[in-house]
Amino acid sequence: MVEHVRVAVIGSGFGGLGAAVRLRREGVTDFVVLERADAVGGTWRDNTYPGCACDVPSHLYSFSFAPNPEWPRNFSGQEHIRAYLERVTDTYGLRPHLRFGAEVQEMTWDADGLRWQIRTPGGDYTADLVVSATGALSDPRIPDIPGLDGFPGAVFHSARWDHGTDLRGKRVAVIGTGASAAQIVPGIQPEVERLTLFQRTPAWVLPRADRRISGAEQWLHGKVPASGRLRRGMLWGIRELQVGLFTKWPERLGLMERVAAVHLRRAVKDPALRAKLTPDYRIGCKRILLSNDFYPALARPNVDVVASGLAEVRGSTLVASDGTTAEADVIVFGTGFLVTDMPIADRVTGANGTTLADHWRKEGGISALRGASAAGFPNFLTIVGPNTGLGNSSMILMIESQLNYMADYLRQLDTLGGRAALDARPSAVRAWNRTLQRRMTSTVWNTGCKSWYLDESGRNATLWPGTTSEFRKATRRVDLAEYQVLRTARVRASAEAGR
Ligand SMILES: Cc1cc2nc3c(=O)[nH]c(=O)nc-3n(C[C@H](O)[C@H](O)[C@H](O)COP(=O)(O)OP(=O)(O)OC[C@H]3O[C@@H](n4cnc5c(N)ncnc54)[C@H](O)[C@@H]3O)c2cc1C
Repeated sequence: MVEHVRVAVIGSGFGGLGAAVRLRREGVTDFVVLERADAVGGTWRDNTYPGCACDVPSHLYSFSFAPNPEWPRNFSGQEHIRAYLERVTDTYGLRPHLRFGAEVQEMTWDADGLRWQIRTPGGDYTADLVVSATGALSDPRIPDIPGLDGFPGAVFHSARWDHGTDLRGKRVAVIGTGASAAQIVPGIQPEVERLTLFQRTPAWVLPRADRRISGAEQWLHGKVPASGRLRRGMLWGIRELQVGLFTKWPERLGLMERVAAVHLRRAVKDPALRAKLTPDYRIGCKRILLSNDFYPALARPNVDVVASGLAEVRGSTLVASDGTTAEADVIVFGTGFLVTDMPIADRVTGANGTTLADHWRKEGGISALRGASAAGFPNFLTIVGPNTGLGNSSMILMIESQLNYMADYLRQLDTLGGRAALDARPSAVRAWNRTLQRRMTSTVWNTGCKSWYLDESGRNATLWPGTTSEFRKATRRVDLAEYQVLRTARVRASAEAGR
């Protein structure tokens, strides 16, 4: 049996749950949320490593429509964020819409019926509109390391933490120095016998203004909601004011580099280790880490930093590109995610019979009109799509902007009446991208470092090169001039007959 719904949302992280709440608020109840796992939460369900927490303050890293006066810390831990998303699911009555174990394996556009045909192991669906919120940091990336298969111990990725492996007294190798590794290292260093960090490129690390949120503050935010909004507004405003430094004037980031250098000097006394940990690129080019305990953990006697990437595994011996070797019982990959490949794209076949992945390959990389629509993929919207990521602020701001776009998209379909679909015009997608890529040239992300923001060709298809308010403005309304209106063959034929 195939179930037809007006909207199929894929994914139940912040993006998918936000879409579900918004749909209900728009009066749409005929929708499902297809989730491959068995619970909601996305990032915050999957990342359970020791020390996992957000790096944007919680009062900003949460939905504007669902404030949480009870955040326990400025940067709350994974379990609190996950519990918050579970609460949002209950408060907004989303449970009846959730379909777990429903990994979207294949999706095909049916041009005659103007609908998507969706295949999942939990059942098949058709939908007038698909909202894809499968997450940019959702599918772990494990590099192809020769000899890894022969490693005798446990091997796992930061986003799939193996809680069955006891790290106490073990020799653990952590691969990578991204945001997750910087939280894992201090999280496990006290209990492991030896920790070896394989570092291809050192990160810039700034102090983290973390503290417990007092009972008085929580009480105030609970009793006077405006106080929570004011707090959120200030957190947002500060980050909004910083954007120009990253997007227009990277040469003015020197002061931030000096703060980071002092932070390093205070924590690491050994000059040789300090040299290894000092980046040689402009701060902000790669993601800036916020941590007060990463450097102190690296300075502990049971920790070694290998200033070179992992190149090969020979039994239990790990060999770095520079020839350094280390023995390990466990390998933890903090090597990030498939970001610029967008795994769902291989599974979506559009109006021309090509997959979204092939379409993007031909176009020279992932791209979407206003971060949402690709030409030839009608009525398919991406939440956290190409060029919607942020270097310094909360992704929830971007997600809520994309939800405005989704709501207006549905309104436009309603106004068109009858059975209609919208397909982004290739010229509109290209114009949008040209402007984005032109703006990208002055950003810090294009100053020469290698980062996960860039695809293989060095093009930044990940970040938004502006303020979150600019993106809010750009996604307020769907501009019909940017879309072709598609009709079913029957409607087209009767319109032609009536002419
Ligand atoms: C450790 C970590 C810390 C982070 N900290 C911050 C932070 O402090 N601030 C910030 O702004 N951002 C942060 N991020 C980024 C974070 O991913 C986003 O803020 C946000 O959670 C993304 O939500 P999402 O719904 O788009 O994706 P996700 O939360 O990744 O959810 C995607 C969902 O889609 C499901 N899915 C994927 N493919 C399919 C399929 N084919 N079929 C069915 N279901 C599918 C997945 O199972 C998942 O549940 C962090 C990311 C990580 C990994």
